[in-house]
Amino acid sequence: MVLFCVIMSLSVKCQSCKNSFVIEDGDLGFYQKMQVPAPTFCPSCRFFRRSIWRNEHFFFKKKEEHTGNFIFSSYPSSSKVKIYEHGYWWSDKWDPKSYGRNYDFNITFFEQFSDLLHSVPLCARSIENCINSDYSNYATNIKNAYLCFNATDSENVSYGFRFSGSQDCVDFYETKDSSLCYETFSIVDSERMFWSSDCANCYNLWFSSNCRNCNDCFGCVNLRDKKYCIFNEHYPKEEYEEKFKKIYDGSFLRVQEILKKIKDLKIKFPMQYIHGNRNKNVKGDYIYASNNALECFVIHNIDNARFSQFVRHSKDIYDFTNWGLACELIYESANCGENSQNLKFCYECWPSSHDLEYCVECHSSSYCFGCVGLQKAKYCIFNKQYHREEYFSLRAKIIEQMNTLPYISIDGLPYKYGEFFPPEFSPFTYEQSSASDYFPKNNHSEISNNYDVEILSSELPEKISNTNDSIIGKVIECQDAQKCAHRCVSAFKITQMELQFYKHFNIPLPRICPNCRFYIRMEKLNQIMSRNGVCMCKNNSHDHTNQCSRKFKTNYSSNNPQIIFCEKCYKQEIY
Ligand SMILES: [Zn+2]
Ligand SMILES: [Zn+2]
Ligand SMILES: [Zn+2]
Ligand SMILES: [Zn+2]
Repeated sequence: MVLFCVIMSLSVKCQSCKNSFVIEDGDLGFYQKMQVPAPTFCPSCRFFRRSIWRNEHFFFKKKEEHTGNFIFSSYPSSSKVKIYEHGYWWSDKWDPKSYGRNYDFNITFFEQFSDLLHSVPLCARSIENCINSDYSNYATNIKNAYLCFNATDSENVSYGFRFSGSQDCVDFYETKDSSLCYETFSIVDSERMFWSSDCANCYNLWFSSNCRNCNDCFGCVNLRDKKYCIFNEHYPKEEYEEKFKKIYDGSFLRVQEILKKIKDLKIKFPMQYIHGNRNKNVKGDYIYASNNALECFVIHNIDNARFSQFVRHSKDIYDFTNWGLACELIYESANCGENSQNLKFCYECWPSSHDLEYCVECHSSSYCFGCVGLQKAKYCIFNKQYHREEYFSLRAKIIEQMNTLPYISIDGLPYKYGEFFPPEFSPFTYEQSSASDYFPKNNHSEISNNYDVEILSSELPEKISNTNDSIIGKVIECQDAQKCAHRCVSAFKITQMELQFYKHFNIPLPRICPNCRFYIRMEKLNQIMSRNGVCMCKNNSHDHTNQCSRKFKTNYSSNNPQIIFCEKCYKQEIY
């Protein structure tokens, strides 16, 4: 008798972009486990749709419902959603269940949900246990943070984006368990890092990238276990220190020259097709300590995942964007985390929530369907309380109605049970959402320029030693003056915390605003969707003649001038 093992995979045409995409046998198993239909949008369109529902780093001034004051919020004033200030929202002075309503089987689910979303006040900022950090958002356990976003367990930080366990850093992006970082990108377990990127376990590195276990290096690329190197060349300690002083004098002009030099230098070195380590069977980019994670992007400690981005310490997740931490069985959800299980089509639901579907800003709740703003709730539908049996029977009827009476989106696509919320009901426009960061069209500034500039950027001193405390709080003109594609806000200020940092490390004052700095840093991030690539190695001493022909999926854009190697060639060259 012959036993056949049938591997099934399905080629499906995306409703939205009309490109075909493949649903693998294993994927179908996950959808069955989650009791959801297979997706009708391709992975890229699904990520775009979730991204429209996320604002990662914009602040808006919006009227607060309770006091009528204008306050900083995640939600823009142009959006019809209502907001309460953080303290009031979390208090028991209002009852989200008072907005509860009966389900109307003559109207589509999504239209009724949109109505509820615009009635129940949302929380102005998504923060938890933040001290002296009024201008930060999407943050947990942070202290003395200024203009920081997507932050956890950190202290004394300014202009940081997506970081955890870090202290005393300024202008940094993707940082884990590090301190004293400036103008850094993707740094793990390191200290004293300046203008450096993609480094781990390093100490006192300047203008360096892709180094591991190194200390005291300047302008280095791809080094392992090295110290006292300048432009990849080793010197005795004393000579290194002398040379360092000659090259780096702390002047703004010199920094620009060095940045130009290392940019030209870096593209001469090979890079591995994927960023990450300690992985088994992974595809995507920036993947660390993960198993069986395909088409994922910026994930740490993940088991069994597909199509997920920016998630930590979770397992069995598909189409999950942002956050995690002890989460399990999450599908088509964003900004959810902290010990939550079985969430489908949810946004901003945390902590310890489970069995939620189509919920927004519900916390410590379970068995809720189509609810907004609930806390510690169970068996609710459209914010109305039911008994257990009523809940399950009404839920089944609504799912049936969603399939027989689908919502038709403004671009004419049917939305049945199994789709994430349509983009048109998001509180954010494309420009206000993270979709504009990951699918950029033209990020010209739409922010009106109404600052009274006190100091022109050209008037700033060359070196920090020529600056005193009088600069703190002054309105400085951004050198880019909104002529760039960086959502330039045209002006900026220097804070006390920042100035102290610059003085301590002899760093010149920045000339451009935080948005310009953010978007320039973000240009280092590879694209979210992978493409087919082939190893560019031509080293004849490897196991190949002429060019290595090994193929891979890579997230380096085809426009990137970097030399990309397969894992085998890269390891032979670098380690
Ligand atoms: Zn598509
Ligand atoms: Zn600017
Ligand atoms: Zn190769
Ligand atoms: Zn090779």
